[in-house]
Amino acid sequence: MTDDPRRRIPRTDTVLAGADFREAIERHGRARAKAAVVAAQARARSGLIAPDAVPEVALAALGRRTTTLRPLLNGTGVVVHTNIGRAPLSPNALDALVSAAGYTDIEYDVATGQRARRGRGTVEAMLAAVPMAGGALAVANGAAALLLATTTLAQGRDLLVSRGELVEIGDGFRLPDLIASTGVHLREVGTTNRTRFRDYADAVTENTGAVLKVHPSNFVVTGFTGTVGIAELTTLGLPVVADIGSGLLHPDPLLPGEPDVATTLADGADLVICSGDKLLGGPQAGLIFGEADLVEQLARHPIARAVRLDKLTHAALEATLRGPDTPTYTAIHADPAQLRRRTEALAATLTARGIKVEVVPSVARVGGGGAPNVELPSWALALPERLAGPLRSADPAVVARVENGQCLVDVRCVDDDDTDLLLDAITAATGA
Ligand SMILES: *Cc1c(COP(=O)(O)O)cnc(C)c1O
Repeated sequence: MTDDPRRRIPRTDTVLAGADFREAIERHGRARAKAAVVAAQARARSGLIAPDAVPEVALAALGRRTTTLRPLLNGTGVVVHTNIGRAPLSPNALDALVSAAGYTDIEYDVATGQRARRGRGTVEAMLAAVPMAGGALAVANGAAALLLATTTLAQGRDLLVSRGELVEIGDGFRLPDLIASTGVHLREVGTTNRTRFRDYADAVTENTGAVLKVHPSNFVVTGFTGTVGIAELTTLGLPVVADIGSGLLHPDPLLPGEPDVATTLADGADLVICSGDKLLGGPQAGLIFGEADLVEQLARHPIARAVRLDKLTHAALEATLRGPDTPTYTAIHADPAQLRRRTEALAATLTARGIKVEVVPSVARVGGGGAPNVELPSWALALPERLAGPLRSADPAVVARVENGQCLVDVRCVDDDDTDLLLDAITAATGA
């Protein structure tokens, strides 16, 4: 069919280069504008709109919001901030998410026309990212991964865990309560500050199902402390599950205290668990790496079905794992000198608009994603404290940090593409 109207769907780059799109890209950022075009193209492909309506439909979609969720700019300097949606997705994860939104071969093999294993592309990407893992599985979030692992290995049995690792992860949720909720008997060993190998060894009985090691990702215990490493725990002869929290796949010199999947597996952990939307910089997910048979056992447990990932998350997670550096990675590794130059350029523009602003040093943080004791040297625009409220009512909202009577906007987590939005929000907030 040579006159198939789908052939007339304009290309993404062509649409984005159109004159009408200049303002939309400025307002919404290129990634969001592109996602709107991709979504409109998908509707045209499904015959829901005419091919030449793509630009118009994309612009209309950008112009109005379809949910109560408000996009916002993160001026807090806290890279992984749970209250504002943790990791921002990379443009390619966003693309993947949009193209998986329609029908997609999530559980289907187009070559044979047969059913295929759900999310196999995600598993492949996980194994490619951590080649030493024998098996991999992704579920709804880190807590679900922990629940699945501990239930599979220790339901109705004892699970050994150090008293120093009975962590509350936020908003009143405590890992011990979660684990015990499916009938796993938590057998606490050691004390809050010190746990020795003997404490674990003495607690082992024939009813012990596994040993759990939890990384305290949101606090640090210092002073007279002692913990037992994974390598030593494996000598107990029980499966060792390590919840490392943050989702770092390999060591990062900038985050020396942060455990990573590859090293934890190399130390001998049978299963390693982490989140997808902390340092990994992807969508909300719980990642499980480990011994192939054990991972398969988890995948076959009835709870696995209740905590499975939806197709959109599979798409975004796979794209994150296969793609270039994520916005989270880029924000954590931003060069302070470069941040200073960016902040000074912003201040110069604001000053030219008659706005009083200073450029001050700032301390940024990794945030709820891990590395609680790491300070990231950064730079911020210092504005009067009273502007914090008006900035939050801007569209998109700008969330700043109020410190020592000043409203600080740290640019570390503000995408370069969003610079104009930030400038306009500050300008509007000052009433200039
Ligand atoms: C964040 C965290 C969790 C929970 O992961 P979610 O993805 O938020 O469900 C569990 N354990 C540790 C150590 C964490 O840091």
